[in-house]
Order: sequence, then structure tokens, then C-alpha cells
Amino acid sequence: MTSREQFLSERLATVRARIDDAVSAAGRTDDVQLIVVTKYFPASDVRLLAGLGVTEVGENRHQEASEKSDECADLGLSWHYIGGLQSNKAAAVARYASVVQSVDRPKLVAPLDRGAGESGRVVDVLLQVSLDDPGADHRAGVLPADLSALADQVAAAEHLRLRGLMAVAPLGEEPARAFERLAQVRASFLSDHPQARVLSAGMSGDLEEAVAHGATHVRVGSAILGPRPPIL
Ligand SMILES: *Cc1c(COP(=O)(O)O)cnc(C)c1O
Repeated sequence: MTSREQFLSERLATVRARIDDAVSAAGRTDDVQLIVVTKYFPASDVRLLAGLGVTEVGENRHQEASEKSDECADLGLSWHYIGGLQSNKAAAVARYASVVQSVDRPKLVAPLDRGAGESGRVVDVLLQVSLDDPGADHRAGVLPADLSALADQVAAAEHLRLRGLMAVAPLGEEPARAFERLAQVRASFLSDHPQARVLSAGMSGDLEEAVAHGATHVRVGSAILGPRPPIL
């Protein structure tokens, strides 16, 4: 084993143990899926992670994700797109992503549907919910008040499958409080879309709080890969 592989292997084991502990602490018996966020790290790391049993990887920039998924096409990984999405890139993202987690406005639905259809696949979609104060200048995510309309549009798209919700805890707030609001939003969402049970929440710093509030998927980057290199 190279030292990088050793490093990734140890940190992956630590994160898996954290997830198991959080699941037990929450009194849950279901599995929580780990998505390893490989953004800014090279395809060689993705390859090592695949060798360590990782099957789900997350990326947040289209250009980088597109190149890396090409380089790693032989590994059979599922690529989760978790970043800000421009409508003119959405069709292209839908050609390699198995799951697009960051759908937050109606304008994205038609191009995603078209990209998925052209690649002959059905793409899973999560709706990114904003947990920011509705009055605040929020960064990304659909406001809870607009969620239902967006969900109906995704559910009606031929090549998209509405699977659930995604959220990021806002900076400057206790993650547990933000995830408690998320759990409430999810409960009412599930009454309209009972099949869409995925809840992607929790990162390196707050995965325990997210699992305590029902996360079915956590997205972990730096706790496994180390601090991200600076953006070039
Ligand atoms: C980068 C990123 C993560 C992973 O963050 P870490 O703190 O490195 O675990 C998770 N979710 C989203 C949306 C991200 O952009």
C-alpha cells in the first residue's frame, strides 16, 4: 500500500465508524450511505478510494466532474453532482451523473430531463432545500415554501426520478437546529412524495447531527481526503 492509500484507508475507516456510532446513537437500524466528496482531488485518489470499496463519489464543479468521471469510467462508480448548477450545463451534467443532488429551481428541470433522455438513462434527483432564513440573501437551495411546486415538476419529468432532499447546514448556526428544521420540511414533503425518502445531509463536521435528524446519505470530503488544495 502506498502512503496515500494508507492515509485514505485509515480515514475512511474512521468516518465509517463515526457513521455507525451515529446510527446507533440515534436508535436507528437502517443503513446510512456514505458519499465521498472528491472535489479538487485527482482521479488517482478516486481510483484508490474505489479500491477501498467506495462506490459513491460527489463532485461540485461540472468541468472537473466531467473529466474525472471519464478518467474513472472503468470503475463503475456512481457520480453525485452536489454543486451549483447553471441551466446551460444541466443537460451535460445529466449525461454522467447518477444523482443530481442540487436541483433548486424549475429552470433546471427541462435541460436535466433532456440530458438524461439523450443518454438513455433515468437520473435520480434530490431537491436542495435552503435552510437559511427566508429573508436572508440565501446562497443555494429552494425555499421550503417553493418545494412542493418544484417537486411536482421533477416528478412529472420523463427521464428524472424524484428521490428526496438535500441540504447544507448554514454557516453560523448550530447544525442540529438547522437539521431539525430540515426534518420538519422533510416530514411534510414525504406526505406528498412518500417514495422520495432520501435525505442527503451532513458533512465532515456535522454528520452526527444529520444522522440524528434522519439523514440517509452523508457527503464527506475533508475528513477522508484531507484539507482541500487551494482552488487554482
Ligand atoms: C464540499 C462539500 C461537501 C463535503 O464537505 P467536507 O466538509 O469536506 O466534508 C459536502 N456537501 C457539499 C454540497 C459540498 O460542496
